[in-house]
Amino acid sequence: METQTILIKNAKILGGNHNKGSVLIENDKIVEISHEIDVNADKVINAENKILMPGLVNTHTHLSMTLLRGLADDLPLDVWLNEHIWPMESHLNGEYCYAGALLACIEMIKSGTTTFNDMYFFMDDVARAVEETGLRGVLSHGMIDLGDGEKRKAEFEETERVIKKCHGAADGRISVAFGPHSPYTCSKELLEGVREKSDKYGALIHIHVSETENEIQQVKEAHGKRPFEYLNDIGFLGENVLAAHAVHLSPEEVEIIKNKGVKLSHNPASNMKLASGVSPVDEMIKKGVCVSLGTDGAASNNNLDILEEMKLAALLQKVNNMDPEALSAETVFQMATANGADALGMKNDLGTIEVGKKADLILLDMKTSHLTPFRHPKSHIVYSANGCDVNTTICNGQILMENKKVISFPEIQAIEIAENAAVEMLSKD
Ligand SMILES: [Zn+2]
Repeated sequence: METQTILIKNAKILGGNHNKGSVLIENDKIVEISHEIDVNADKVINAENKILMPGLVNTHTHLSMTLLRGLADDLPLDVWLNEHIWPMESHLNGEYCYAGALLACIEMIKSGTTTFNDMYFFMDDVARAVEETGLRGVLSHGMIDLGDGEKRKAEFEETERVIKKCHGAADGRISVAFGPHSPYTCSKELLEGVREKSDKYGALIHIHVSETENEIQQVKEAHGKRPFEYLNDIGFLGENVLAAHAVHLSPEEVEIIKNKGVKLSHNPASNMKLASGVSPVDEMIKKGVCVSLGTDGAASNNNLDILEEMKLAALLQKVNNMDPEALSAETVFQMATANGADALGMKNDLGTIEVGKKADLILLDMKTSHLTPFRHPKSHIVYSANGCDVNTTICNGQILMENKKVISFPEIQAIEIAENAAVEMLSKD
């Protein structure tokens, strides 16, 4: 393979040990960072007046749910799921999942996310969208058995089919995880099977835990314990478990999460929109728990903009703790970058700008009215910027968007495919 080089010059650098300078990319990796780099690169990007930072990591998504965006808002979780989301999801097929994921990938490229962690259905069709658009993703088939042995067997077969077909695909950008939906929709046998098989494959486990008060009651009634206590007792927890939400936690459960090295995905917009509650994120981060950021699906957010999620995360902790010092801009920046990489087991490759790491990088325009005066870059990133400020997105050393134009896939075509799929799916209801 011929070596391909990209030189990014004159950048203000965040998320590494350098403040200002140049970054040289060779194929998929960062090979040099210094004040001045003097080489003849295949491609030179002048990053004057721009911030260069690690690509954002969204650790909890359901990409194909972009097709359900705006379908039903302002409803309680059970009504929202039972009367709107689940009936519509019964019409899903591989083409719809591809269409929704394609739209989501374009939205993430435009708003600076380069890596995401997705749980849904027809995941090999989702993988097609990831392959074509150039992003990096961890994909898991959402497993639900509700105690039914036949269903359980089918869920493992589907997960292992997707592992065999997609794990390591798209130049290594795609990996496959186990996705048991939650402790109240999965049996003990399913959860134990996931623990055993994830060890065998060395795969991540992606699960929803303790999202609502209702779920806590359900798990208590079924098992006599709170969700994290129950999961701990059956030997399910470990460092490869990434739990989304973790809203309602007892002090004992926080200790379990910490001691077992469980990683968390905090989803403030979804938790606020569905009135699920507030996760004790500030407290857990101070205790050393790895908390990352996710958007959840676009039906409960309603976008995939991690820069927006960063601001919401900071503000929610401040008002909930009645403490303006809670969850600082610096901490939120870590959550969306380095903690995200750590949560997905990819901290050696992603999350900071360092020599030897993967070239997953974004550039943000700073010469714009709402980011002026340009003083404290991390403050601007968290409190003033949004996804529309992302100018250039690079993943695995490939430029996916330059000067706000997506080049890896025609945006207008993705919008048409998704719009048509959404119209067709809604007409089936
Ligand atoms: Zn979710």
